[in-house]
This record gives sequence, structure tokens and C-alpha cells, in this order.
Amino acid sequence: MALAEISKAITQAETAAGRVPGSVRLIAVSKVQPLERVEAVLQEGHRLFGENRVQEAAGKWPDLKQRFDGVAVHLIGPLQTNKARQAMELFDAIHTLDRPKLATTLARLAQEMGHCPDLMIQVNTGEEPQKAGVLPRDADHFISEVRAMDLPVKGLMCIPPVEEEPALHFALLAKIAERNGLAELSMGMSADFETAIALGATCVRVGSAIFGDRVSG
Ligand SMILES: *Cc1c(COP(=O)(O)O)cnc(C)c1O
Repeated sequence: MALAEISKAITQAETAAGRVPGSVRLIAVSKVQPLERVEAVLQEGHRLFGENRVQEAAGKWPDLKQRFDGVAVHLIGPLQTNKARQAMELFDAIHTLDRPKLATTLARLAQEMGHCPDLMIQVNTGEEPQKAGVLPRDADHFISEVRAMDLPVKGLMCIPPVEEEPALHFALLAKIAERNGLAELSMGMSADFETAIALGATCVRVGSAIFGDRVSG
């Protein structure tokens, strides 16, 4: 599927769910994609992208932002505290805030730098040991902790376990966001973005369905 087809599928899913067409943002996940594929999507007019790694994003986006107007790039992969400053300079939003130590670091840097990207808190809805994110039972507490630090927390993000029905995880994330008064839901990828939109996603993160399979190595 190409960009135009994904956009059409998003509009259809919005309409089917009784939501306003255009209310869901499409984050084109460009990690590990050859530059010419990314440039082709930029040429088509798309301006919102997602990257997994600070280092990889630092290698391509400053230049692409010079060449194309109005580009925004979101960090959707884990963030180490020692890369926090670089991430705050590079990204327009960070979707993976998941622990107090990182929140404290971001708050200190935000004071110092005078700005902070929009933040999403990652929730480990499947309670998978190897996966990042706060546990669902700790989410309310962590959200209020982060808010008390004056950080711009806008919403929640999740990556459901691969072998499980994603709808259950999207519904859980939506419930936690609602009871905490958070408007943004970052959920849904190539295989399940339509389900995510039905359950309230405000941004979907779609990679391979736009760019083709990621080239390994
Ligand atoms: C890679 C990635 C995506 C995109 O995955 P696709 O299946 O290629 O659409 C979305 N979210 C996160 C956090 C990712 O790491």
C-alpha cells in the first residue's frame, strides 16, 4: 500500500467510527528506510514522520528539514537519559516517556532550554517484561507525577503484544487516557491502524504499509 491508499483507509476508518475525517494524524515511520523512499513520501507532500532511534534521526532529519518546509518528526522508540538533550533538540514530540528518571531529566532540560516537545507516556498494556512502558496499574500515579513537573504531557502510547488481539490493548489505553483527561492516543501500526482508529487513536504510526518492508542490516 502506498501513502494515498493508507490515507484513504484512514478516512474510511474515521467515517466508519463516526469520527471527523482528518481527526487522526498519520505518522509515517521512516526508521531503517532508504533515503529515496523517505524523500518520495516527502515529495508527495507528507510532513509527519516517526523515528525509533535518536542517532538515526540525527543523521537524516536536520538535512531533510532544511530541504522541506513544515516537517515534524516524532520519537517513537525508547529514550535513554543521556540522549534526552539531543532528542529534545531533534524531535517535535516524544511518545516514549516511561519512567520517573527520564521525566526528571526532561523537566530539568525543559527549564534550561525554555521549550519541551509534546510528550506521550508509553504504557506497557501487555505487561511484557521485555517491553518499555509503565504498567497499567502504575499509569495514573505516573501521569500525575509527570504533570506535577510541569511537563507537556498530551496523551498515551502503546505497542500491543504481537500475538494478542490489539483491540483489548487499545481499549485499555483509551480508558486510562479518559480517566486522566488526556486527549491524545498514539496507537495502531500497519497491521491494526483501522482497529486503533475505531477505538479512539488520534495518531497512528504506520511504517511498512507506506514504505514497504524494512531493509534489514
Ligand atoms: C516500527 C514501529 C512502527 C511501525 O511499524 P509497521 O508495522 O511497520 O507499521 C510503529 N510504532 C513503533 C513504536 C515502531 O517501532
